[in-house]
Amino acid sequence: MMLYLVATPIGNLEDITFRAVRVLKEVDLIAAEDTRTARKLLDRYEIKTPVVSYYDAVEKSKTPELIAELAAGRSVALVSEAGTPGISDPGYRLVAAAREAGVPVVPVPGPSAAIAALAASGLPTDRFAFEGFLPSSPAARRKKLYSLREEERTLIFYESPRRILATLKEVGQIFGDRPVAVARELTKIHEEFLRGPAAEVSRQLRKKGKIRGEIVLLLAGRSGPPDWSGITPADQIERAIRELGISRMEAIKLVAGLRGRPKSEIYRAGLEESRPPAG
Ligand code: SAM
Repeated sequence: MMLYLVATPIGNLEDITFRAVRVLKEVDLIAAEDTRTARKLLDRYEIKTPVVSYYDAVEKSKTPELIAELAAGRSVALVSEAGTPGISDPGYRLVAAAREAGVPVVPVPGPSAAIAALAASGLPTDRFAFEGFLPSSPAARRKKLYSLREEERTLIFYESPRRILATLKEVGQIFGDRPVAVARELTKIHEEFLRGPAAEVSRQLRKKGKIRGEIVLLLAGRSGPPDWSGITPADQIERAIRELGISRMEAIKLVAGLRGRPKSEIYRAGLEESRPPAG
């Protein structure tokens, strides 16, 4: 009884470990996010293990079935469509349920697009924050980006080719000239890294015509102390309301988070500044 989390290639089928191949051959069952992608990989390495599908929409219903298989003494390997299971992919629910049931969970590490992109991006790698996919609605996306303005760690996002230009525009508006890297089609024939401020990276991308492929977007963290000079809490609240279209209470919460101060303090500061001078 063992649940293996097996990382698989993110493009180049050679990016698989000897151990991953052995485990995939030896387990009783492979639970795959995409059975067709899994089949290609399994055929290439002559792996004959039975495969069942395990993707987002069936995660809830399939988890007890897989736990039952494990409890019956069988071993299961979870693979996602690409990269490391559980990283912006199904896996968390099954791992949590397995841990709860006392089933040993064994990682079989390998590729993950976020780490491959970060390592080769040229941005600081000592501290980073993985943010997964940004929200798809423009307002929620802007709000999310805004809330990350003071983050000092390198930021990593997964992004779609359809949205990358819109996101880069917002990154430019919110983060100014901060260094950005776009890692596209990692480990594949058209692998490329574009670097520079958001506006420049956007220009380079647009030059190529239709943007295709898979993308990791990286953004340098804030360097130096936060620059609050000339920006009072009240100014910041008004800006947040105007630029993000959020309510006053939401803006107060956001500004409190950015400044690392209690909400009540920001609320009071906002009131005092907006009060007309006495007399
Ligand atoms: N579990 C995967 C991992 O460990 O990297 C990530 C799965 S997530 C659903 C898919 C996203 O990862 C893509 O939309 C893209 O942002 C990023 N990605 C996956 N493969 C990539 C590649 N070869 N090059 C660039 N980005 C990639």
